[in-house]
Amino acid sequence: MHEPVTAHPAGRVPGRRYKSLGLFLTNLVAPAYGRQVAVRNDIVWCPEPWKHPGAAERLVAMWHAYEGALRSPEESALSMWWLDADAHMRALMDHAGEFSLCHKGHKTTLEPLPLNLDAAPPELFAEVTRQPATVTDTAA
Ligand SMILES: [Zn+2]
Repeated sequence: MHEPVTAHPAGRVPGRRYKSLGLFLTNLVAPAYGRQVAVRNDIVWCPEPWKHPGAAERLVAMWHAYEGALRSPEESALSMWWLDADAHMRALMDHAGEFSLCHKGHKTTLEPLPLNLDAAPPELFAEVTRQPATVTDTAA
């Protein structure tokens, strides 16, 4: 069952609310978005979202961002998380989205986008060795 969001109890070291992606999906995502799947027929949810690489990446990102929002000193962090989560869930559950073939259970995912790697410049696969510029790097 989903636990209500509360401030960290005094003296408790904040940790993750959900110890795994499975617990995050079971206790937050599924209850929060279940109504949308039940009342609308233009959205689709896959009961095995981890079988979709793009969905798995989004859901892990949502989980990590949620945990970060809980620890954030910004009082609007959870509200911002919900706005971001809604965008991810719309992208996943759209009738043309990642789960579009999973109306009645998981179906094999679509093939990846075609890539003509023979035509790719070698720089495309060069490892990044330089860290991104920081604000202080560009301020001078
Ligand atoms: Zn599926």
